Amino acid sequence: MSRSYPPVPPGTHSSDYFEPNRGTHLRHPKHPRIVVPQTLSELTGPVYPYLFIGQPETDLTRQHSGQPIGERIVVSGSVLDEDGRPVTKTLVEIWQANAAGRYRHQVDLHDAPLDPNFTGCGRTLTDAEGRYRFVTIMPGAYPWRNHHNAWRPAHIHFSVFGPAFCTRLVTQMYFPGDPLLPYDPMYLSIPSDEARSRLISVLDWETTIPDTAVGYRFDIVLRGRERTPADPKSAGGPA
Ligand code: FE
Repeated sequence: MSRSYPPVPPGTHSSDYFEPNRGTHLRHPKHPRIVVPQTLSELTGPVYPYLFIGQPETDLTRQHSGQPIGERIVVSGSVLDEDGRPVTKTLVEIWQANAAGRYRHQVDLHDAPLDPNFTGCGRTLTDAEGRYRFVTIMPGAYPWRNHHNAWRPAHIHFSVFGPAFCTRLVTQMYFPGDPLLPYDPMYLSIPSDEARSRLISVLDWETTIPDTAVGYRFDIVLRGRERTPADPKSAGGPA
């Protein structure tokens, strides 16, 4: 059994080599890609103990005894297929910097404070309508040494695992109106303006919690014309 899906339009994904993104200079495929048909063996894989995913992993502000510093936000949306149908019970994972722009990760040497009450990782399963929801804090911008005075715009990394390793989508969500976006080679490496703009979340009054947290909506499309662009292939480290 194999399936074919509608093609992803050119310009949706960044090319393997993008001169302004230094990380792509050495780390990119040297040979043409091989298309592997998605047969049953590609579409089935390891199953995680999803039953154990609960609130501590969807609310990143309640993973420690104290409250993290920063602006609380709600990030939610739907995972959809090429026809706009919800993708249910799929694993959505996020990771992000803290409010000061620092990751809790050993290779992050940014001279900004760690927050003892913020780890920056969460995961959940989409519900029967393909929806996910996280409560977290607004991540800070951080320098990344790609070039002189290089700063990453505020962003949250997303992984949608799908049924197997080869179906995994890794991408980044940005925030509307971020003045750093036009200067970010990671964001700019996606050729199509329209596809690139799909990585920017929208302010969402429906999910905004009065007196508590502003809501942002970010829908993820796995295939077809509206496909959510993937991370630059060669991006490594806390980028
Ligand atoms: Fe990052």
